[in-house]
Amino acid sequence: MALRIALGLAMTAVGFAVAGHRLWWLYRLARRGQPAPERIEAVRSGIGERITAQLAEVFGQRKLLKWSLPGLAHFFVFWAFVILLTVYIEAYGALFDHDFHIPLIGTWPVLGFAQDFIAVAAFCGLVAFGAIRIRTSPKRLDRGSRFYRSHLGGAWLILFMIFNVFWTMFLFRGSAINTGAFPYRTGAFVSEGAAAALAPLGEGVNGALETAGLLAHLAVMLTFLVIIAYSKHLHIFLAPLNVLFSRRPDGLGPLLPMRSNGKVIDFEDADPDEDVFGRSKVEDFTWKGLLDFATCTECGRCQSQCPAWNTGKPLNPKLVITDLRDHALAKAPYILASSDEEREKLPDEVKAEAERPLVGDEAAGGVIHPDVLWSCTTCGACVEQCPVDIEHVDHILDMRRYQVLIESSFPSEANTLLKNLENKANPWGLNAEARLDWTEGLDFEVPVVDEKVPDDVEYLFWVGCAGALEDRAKKTTRAIAELLHLAGVKFAVLGPMEGCTGDPARRIGNEFLFQMLAQQNVETLNEAFGDRPAKKIVAMCPHCFNTLSREYPQIGGDYDVVHHTQLLSQLVAEGRLTPVTPIEESITYHDPCYLGRHNKVYTPPREILANVPGMQAREMHRCRDRGFCCGAGGARMWMEERIGKRVNAERVDEALALDPDLVSTACPFCLVMLGDAIAEKKQSGDAKESLEIVDVAQLLVRSVRQQEQPAERSS
Ligand code: SF4
Ligand code: SF4
Repeated sequence: MALRIALGLAMTAVGFAVAGHRLWWLYRLARRGQPAPERIEAVRSGIGERITAQLAEVFGQRKLLKWSLPGLAHFFVFWAFVILLTVYIEAYGALFDHDFHIPLIGTWPVLGFAQDFIAVAAFCGLVAFGAIRIRTSPKRLDRGSRFYRSHLGGAWLILFMIFNVFWTMFLFRGSAINTGAFPYRTGAFVSEGAAAALAPLGEGVNGALETAGLLAHLAVMLTFLVIIAYSKHLHIFLAPLNVLFSRRPDGLGPLLPMRSNGKVIDFEDADPDEDVFGRSKVEDFTWKGLLDFATCTECGRCQSQCPAWNTGKPLNPKLVITDLRDHALAKAPYILASSDEEREKLPDEVKAEAERPLVGDEAAGGVIHPDVLWSCTTCGACVEQCPVDIEHVDHILDMRRYQVLIESSFPSEANTLLKNLENKANPWGLNAEARLDWTEGLDFEVPVVDEKVPDDVEYLFWVGCAGALEDRAKKTTRAIAELLHLAGVKFAVLGPMEGCTGDPARRIGNEFLFQMLAQQNVETLNEAFGDRPAKKIVAMCPHCFNTLSREYPQIGGDYDVVHHTQLLSQLVAEGRLTPVTPIEESITYHDPCYLGRHNKVYTPPREILANVPGMQAREMHRCRDRGFCCGAGGARMWMEERIGKRVNAERVDEALALDPDLVSTACPFCLVMLGDAIAEKKQSGDAKESLEIVDVAQLLVRSVRQQEQPAERSS
């Protein structure tokens, strides 16, 4: 017994010391990141929501279960880690007291059953993981595999270690039953089977096997602990922490304001020498950013949904995270060195790593290639899929911010966009007066706000730059106005007083220009609404909808904003709009990323379509939260797409597979991008001439109008 105690304690001391050393080193590294006081504050003030998130994402494995077989396998392995902690408590207790059981619950047969059951279920999970890995292994260099460039060797070692946990557990428990030291009389069905198999060996051998099984079980756990601390499987410890400190409800929707040393940057007193503008080196990320990098499991779920990666671009969200992690770890001795003298003594490879620019091409040895950075459409598919709540979009945008604000380095064609936004407050550089051109020819008057929103007006209609100035999008604007008029909704527009919300400036990384545009709009809106209790806005564009509702509160603009599909669907439900004219056509709906994934508005546009008589709607293979981007977001609308297949062409191919008569959407940018791709497909003979792209509002107005009125068609 004394030897057993001594060996058990010695192993434990060594295991914890080696793992603890590494964890302390990682903690010190994370502390070198920028502070993120808002994350701590969010946990403090929203502890209930955080607990719910832990229950759903960590304990319920919500996101992983969307991937049926691997998700279920992971679910069982995760719960084995939780439930088998009780077996380790029993094992440590048995080191000192042969007849130990956990107080209160330690002889309850349900616990004995749960321990054995979860071990068997997790073993089946291991077999499934092994099969998935064998099946994908030969393809691992293929960019179509979600394990492309993932570290699969380590994964096999982890599976082997988990297997070792199980057999040592049953050896220890089976022999303990035979020596009369097992706490459960019934329930532990696998342990009882092991006991039956070992019983013929006699009590003496079973006693020796019990000690050997116990020590082996502890040794496996301690070795496992060390392996986890030194490998990418750190996510086993870090995932709950990362979920705890993640943005709620997710890292989508609004972008975070730019912070330096934990404080939001005020551009009026910012000091480029003191303040950190975006990210120019890995230690400029906050500790939460560094935690994100260390938490990545390399599962590749993000990459499998990324429109850039799926169309042959160099951007792979998994590799962005793992490349940043590998760089942070390789540069860590330099970051942690306390003096220049200490840094001088570091090995050459560490010094070389420290000199790599964060963003740079092959010649510059950059960690992230500029083509990677500028390929992102900020569609959020990666963030939506990530099972450990990594916030890829924030990191990509923070790197863009440094490139744009400090280096003035971005795709040259975006120059025109930024100049037009700065000088004319719209991407096309048109005069403000042109913002009312879309009203020409309407058979009712559209009220224009003159300083104050009139008292009888319920909604301010935020038309947006595309809705006001882009010819195809203007048809949607007219349809919405007509529908609101028919439903008797009192609305008004800002006309020339409206300016770009700043979304494209913010997504390209020009936070300064975003602030300028946004502050101007917030001043106009606050003045227009005055002290009205209800400040209702209906936005035509999902990008405007996202910015007005979720980003303007960051700068003092609090409004009650709905997207046009939400309001129109409500008007149909209330009977204020009645679609009567049948549209006997087949249709497929494309989810705009900033309406769907970023703001979870999936149902209202579909409800509108469902209410149009005669319409036969079919879903594309990738829809709702797995919808595929049109290629316009992240200011990509104003950049050339030189690498790989065009994202809009890929999306239209997916729609064409259903052979629809109509493709519908609810965003002016999607309308333009998909419209361009359809026009090309028609030219090449790959799409029928009659195929049309329309906003759901255009369809609704066609159906609501009396049959004798001419329908306005888009081509
Ligand atoms: S936001 Fe979209 S385009 Fe950007 S990395 Fe994520 S999935 Fe890819
Ligand atoms: S970032 Fe998230 S989804 Fe992507 S590989 Fe890592 S853990 Fe998986």
